[in-house]
Amino acid sequence: MGLVVQKYGGSSVADAEGIKRVAKRIVEAKKNGHQVVAVVSAMGDTTDELIDLAEQVSPMPAGRELDMLLTAGERISMALLAMAIKNLGHSAQSFTGSQAGVITDSVHNKARIIDVTPGRIRDSLDEGNIAIVAGFQGVSQDTKDITTLGRGGSDTTAVALAAALDAEVCEIYTDVDGVFTADPRVVKKARKIDWISFEDMLELAASGSKVLLHRCVEYARRYNIPIHVRSSFSGLQGTWVSSEPIQQGDKKVEQAIISGVAHDTSEAKITVVGVPDKPGEAASIFRTIADAEINIDMVVQNVSAAATGLTDISFTLPKTEGRKAIDALEKNKGGIGFDSLRYDDQIGKISLVGAGMKTNPGVTADFFTALSDAGVNIELISTSEIRISVVTRADDVPEAVRAVHTAFGLDSDSDEAVVYGGTGR
Ligand code: ADP
Ligand code: ASP
Ligand code: MG
Repeated sequence: MGLVVQKYGGSSVADAEGIKRVAKRIVEAKKNGHQVVAVVSAMGDTTDELIDLAEQVSPMPAGRELDMLLTAGERISMALLAMAIKNLGHSAQSFTGSQAGVITDSVHNKARIIDVTPGRIRDSLDEGNIAIVAGFQGVSQDTKDITTLGRGGSDTTAVALAAALDAEVCEIYTDVDGVFTADPRVVKKARKIDWISFEDMLELAASGSKVLLHRCVEYARRYNIPIHVRSSFSGLQGTWVSSEPIQQGDKKVEQAIISGVAHDTSEAKITVVGVPDKPGEAASIFRTIADAEINIDMVVQNVSAAATGLTDISFTLPKTEGRKAIDALEKNKGGIGFDSLRYDDQIGKISLVGAGMKTNPGVTADFFTALSDAGVNIELISTSEIRISVVTRADDVPEAVRAVHTAFGLDSDSDEAVVYGGTGR
């Protein structure tokens, strides 16, 4: 029996009852002969509540202090979980990210893990303990300040530890039974996926399926760590995310043509109006955005009006970066040369993902037909080899997701898409 890393999300440890339930699960794994490392998130919506609190005392809280505040959320759950396990008669020790050896760069609020040195975790396991680790946090190699990994970052902590400890599997416990063909909160007829490749999962995660964080899947693919996404509320098998299809009976699970539909309402759109249509303009706009350390998603440039020689460039970015991007562009207005900026945070993105797209003609046409039949207007389009994404009005998203899900034959006959907890926040 090898080492397993289990990660429990906020909804799984939302209250004392939840923590006791999770403690029992962890002890069960230990009794089955595994060495167990459990990574925990903050209880329920604690992280959101702490952010709200910070914004009440300062509209733009300093990154360093915000990280210090937010990491307190995971500290609460790790200590309570260790206590609950001890209460069941087993030994457990809790560790902060820094104590667990999660070393990051120094970009506050979205730090990247650059190394994991889990010496203390290894020692604790060898002494027979269950190790509990606070997710979502690390320590900067340069500044020695405490950092956080970005929202949902406990998933990344878990996979990074699983890689560093050479775990046999990384189990991600959450409030649904696995990865579904769409968010079960939006599509009641979503179907549970038994196995999905790293590639398709990466696209789903990047397109807004927050059941797994994009960076965590990237990490798992790089180190070839199989992930098992499952519910902490039921005993059901979940979804395996791995490089090779899993075996079911005497045959391998087949790769689906379309893996699923993802949606994302966390982005905003900025339109730079009246940009001179000459070489170097896009470069200086996006250099300004990059210098502000903002990641952008989609980009479109309109055809320029012949009379004026001016064009518009639109791009999407996380809403949380909207203010910073506008400020950076305004500051550089003279250098870039544009008339005005338009900011729109009432947008949503819908993406269809599946490796089978590469070889099946007509997928794009069917996707657009489904949207038009549902009366949904498309504002931006972007594609990759295995994904098509469109931007629409935010209000249209739920209807559009359901329409596309049905059009691609993904609806299940049974109501297997159970949501056990969480507020969906
Ligand atoms: P945790 O607190 O356990 O990290 P999250 O809220 O981050 O949980 O992720 C689980 C949620 O992800 C589910 O409750 C569900 O609403 C959402 N979700 C979005 N897309 C999917 C999908 N394709 N399959 C399953 N869940 C999804
Ligand atoms: N507590 C953090 C968040 O809410 C990290 C996580 O849950 O993964 O984003
Ligand atoms: Mg999560």
